[in-house]
Amino acid sequence: MTTFDVDAMSHDEILHIGFDDTDSTRGRCTTHLAFKITGYLLNDSDTEFLDYPLLVRLNPNIPLKTRGNGAVCLRVKVRNHKKIIEDITQLIEEGSAIDEGANPGIMFLNGGLVPEAVKEFGRIAMFDILSKQKAEKIAKENCIPYFAFGNGQGLVGSLAAIGSLEDGDHTFEAIAYRKSKNYGTTRKIDVSRVIQYDKRTFPNTFNNYDQNHRRMLIAPHGPDPVFCGIRGESPEVVVSTLEWLQTEEILDGYMVFRSNQGTNMHLQNELKLSAIRVYMAGYVRGKVMRKPQIIQGGHVFFGIEDSDSFTCMAAVYEPTGLTSIASQMEIGDVIEIGCGVRKGTCNRPPTLNVEYIYILKLAQVYALSNPPCKYCTRKMKSEGKNKGFQCDRCGYKDSNAKKIPILQNRDIMTGLYVPTPKSHRHLTKPVHRYGMEKRSSCSNPGSKLIARWFFASS
Ligand code: ATP
Repeated sequence: MTTFDVDAMSHDEILHIGFDDTDSTRGRCTTHLAFKITGYLLNDSDTEFLDYPLLVRLNPNIPLKTRGNGAVCLRVKVRNHKKIIEDITQLIEEGSAIDEGANPGIMFLNGGLVPEAVKEFGRIAMFDILSKQKAEKIAKENCIPYFAFGNGQGLVGSLAAIGSLEDGDHTFEAIAYRKSKNYGTTRKIDVSRVIQYDKRTFPNTFNNYDQNHRRMLIAPHGPDPVFCGIRGESPEVVVSTLEWLQTEEILDGYMVFRSNQGTNMHLQNELKLSAIRVYMAGYVRGKVMRKPQIIQGGHVFFGIEDSDSFTCMAAVYEPTGLTSIASQMEIGDVIEIGCGVRKGTCNRPPTLNVEYIYILKLAQVYALSNPPCKYCTRKMKSEGKNKGFQCDRCGYKDSNAKKIPILQNRDIMTGLYVPTPKSHRHLTKPVHRYGMEKRSSCSNPGSKLIARWFFASS
């Protein structure tokens, strides 16, 4: 465990508490720990939440992640810093799956302003790989006490969460938690009610149900404490929808998170193919330079060349539902793809895993056709390579005739193509959210959190 001099902190009341890497694939969940810590903080009447707990999804290509690479930041006004830091550190140590491989990190930034270096760290964590050493260096330079367990890799997520203000586009999620006696049992949710509210609340909730695959998307399947999560555009809509769902199972409670889920925040930076590194995320603009090939499993591979004439292979996987579009692209099509850089193997160079395709301009595609007979207009037959053509109706021969190019109809259109909801990542922006992006962290600056943002059963 790494410690820091808590007594040296200023007594400014504002505390930003970032934490990450508390769970393992066998159970637990960082958002659940956030729910427990929030319950503890709310029990102290001197604590005021300045924002909803922030659920920050970081670079989804990081191999270290357990599931959705989520980190949490709580921004609060408190009185007794020292006690709160000690208690929360203890809650995280006790509530983390350290024996099963979790490597929790916790950081406490004191003061109203988030330093630029911390914001920059949060920005880069969305699309690149950062080291624990860099997180520690920035924390020390900015007097941010931190604590780490295991190998401490969670420090990266905890600092990045503090640095992510989500002051542009954002969404909300009301996550409901199970009583521990129910962990591992089947979650009973009335699908017909999910379908009903999905229609009724559109476009203000999203990723509830995948119509095409008839699959409910609000509940995980593992042994973790999450019962379900309702994602949407406002705290009011996610809470009222969760309450309307009327689950049979008696739950432990729920909490509203503000989040970058559904915003494509990991795909905001342009990747230059000359400078890509494994696990980076972003977008590439360029031209299709190698015709799409469908491989076993229905996946589609094609080559892309960027404006600096660097090239890379791109992969569109079958479950995304984008393969039929991708397979119809032609050399010369101008496109933008959202993607993550997948590690190469000994016989395959790094590949771009495609997350959306935006076809900006379709190339003109020609097919070569035999020339028509100048007397009877019937298509002539080839006499062999470089031997000209002959009409088999009137017998006219033209030894100089050449095949003529005919412009082909393209069966695809320019525009944006995004994956089917069932293969969305947490960060994937659903197609209907394009144009709905928020421009600030709060539509009503100075407004308070809604009354029902947190509920815990006694
Ligand atoms: P869950 O979503 O269930 O909470 P998870 O998928 O977030 O789990 P973690 O167990 O938190 O997975 O592991 C992710 C690890 O990756 C953390 O240690 C975090 O600090 C680290 N990490 C996150 N983003 C980056 C990044 N950009 N560069 C390097 N490490 C990162």
